[in-house]
Amino acid sequence: TKDDVKGFLRRNAFVLFTITAVIFGILLGFSLRSYKMSYREVKYFSFPGELLMRMLQMLVLPLLVSSLVTGMAALDSKASGKMGLRAVVYYTSTTVIAVFIGIIMVLIIHPGKGSKDEFKKQQKIQQVSPADAFLDLIRNMFPPNIVQACTQQFKTQYGKRVVHVTMTVNESIFNLTNSTQEILKEEMIPIPGTVNGVNALGLVVFSMCFGLIIGSMKEKGQALKDFFDCLNEAIMRLVAIIMWYAPIGILFLIAGKIVEMEDISTVGGQLGMYTVTVIIGLMIHGMFVLPTLYFVVTRKNPFVFIGGLLQALITALGTSSSSATLPITFKCLEENNKVDKRVTRFVLPVGATINMDGTALYEALAAIFIAQVNGLDMSFGQILTISITATAASIGAAGIPQAGLVTMVIVLTSVGLPTDDISLIIAVDWFLDRLRTTTNVLGDSIGAGIVEHLSRHELHKDAEMGNSVVEEK
Ligand code: ASP
Repeated sequence: TKDDVKGFLRRNAFVLFTITAVIFGILLGFSLRSYKMSYREVKYFSFPGELLMRMLQMLVLPLLVSSLVTGMAALDSKASGKMGLRAVVYYTSTTVIAVFIGIIMVLIIHPGKGSKDEFKKQQKIQQVSPADAFLDLIRNMFPPNIVQACTQQFKTQYGKRVVHVTMTVNESIFNLTNSTQEILKEEMIPIPGTVNGVNALGLVVFSMCFGLIIGSMKEKGQALKDFFDCLNEAIMRLVAIIMWYAPIGILFLIAGKIVEMEDISTVGGQLGMYTVTVIIGLMIHGMFVLPTLYFVVTRKNPFVFIGGLLQALITALGTSSSSATLPITFKCLEENNKVDKRVTRFVLPVGATINMDGTALYEALAAIFIAQVNGLDMSFGQILTISITATAASIGAAGIPQAGLVTMVIVLTSVGLPTDDISLIIAVDWFLDRLRTTTNVLGDSIGAGIVEHLSRHELHKDAEMGNSVVEEK
């Protein structure tokens, strides 16, 4: 009936706007391609999209800190310990499955068949030892200066594509940045910093510890608890406003990207096969493995759950940043899927920072592809090394555009593959980045659903004790 239609439209207004925006963005992008806009014109044209990125990023830092602090403080330490354990088990197992799928796919499809001559351009990238990279990961967990951790910003460029190495700022990658920039000087184009750099990993560790302590201080900690609670609530209200702008931003982000991308019809051969392999791998993980896992654990329909996440997934596709998408992911999970706030506040910020299934799958697959292109057969031991380092690289990668490409260096050096060969896959990375980011966001969200289900008893008990942070509506 008419009322049903109206109700449906009202309930799904955001999603409908967003999907319409994607369609318009694609149409607009393709229809403007023939104009051959200059670099400057493209930048002007994508400006509304850049604004969306900035708005979302503006909220990430306070959101991350306030949600984690209140999330940890709201639970008694036993409950948060159990929840934490479940989250860690989920993150680890899904990441391992993702890596496994990536490896199986690349071994079966073997996209690297043929010779390397197909790739003309080669660029030099400096060598980084895996041990240093691991230490950097741990180092970043403990930022010596918490204020600086919120502001660090480094950028690097691979060819014409900008890779922002911000959130897991580490020294080796910084060197790599410099050397890459030097070598590619003639190709460099000035691109305004669109991503605000934050050492998210360090902030996550700090906020969790801080929240736990506040929680254990009982009445004494109440003032701080209230403060962060209120901060969180205020930020979420800002998110609600930005949500109205999001479709417009996404439209221009997508249209702008389509206008500026190189002609993809020329991508064929090994690179084309590689792209297809990554897409299949990500689809198996996102559309089969994760939903099945959700169903097995919760006995609920996973696609209804995913339906509630549509806006977050589209935002991930548009921004290629799981951190920038975080505010929207929160909204979708809490409002559409009614996931308990004590869970989302805890699981989502950590997930967005360290749990990246898509990136893990991608890195393992890409490393083996590079080996194949070089005509090298990987031994079982080497493949095992790749899976371990790909997992570490996905943890270390920041939730920002193309961060995975930078942490690839760790994976490649661990088995002695030429890091220069990252340049082979740059041409399609912007596109695959969007897909793996979407998978990353999906993995985090399904994780929240699963952890909530597994923790329902503690959550219930905790709520009885008056510890609920679910505010009364
Ligand atoms: N862009 C991805 C993300 O934000 C990270 C990556 O490059 O793989 O989740």
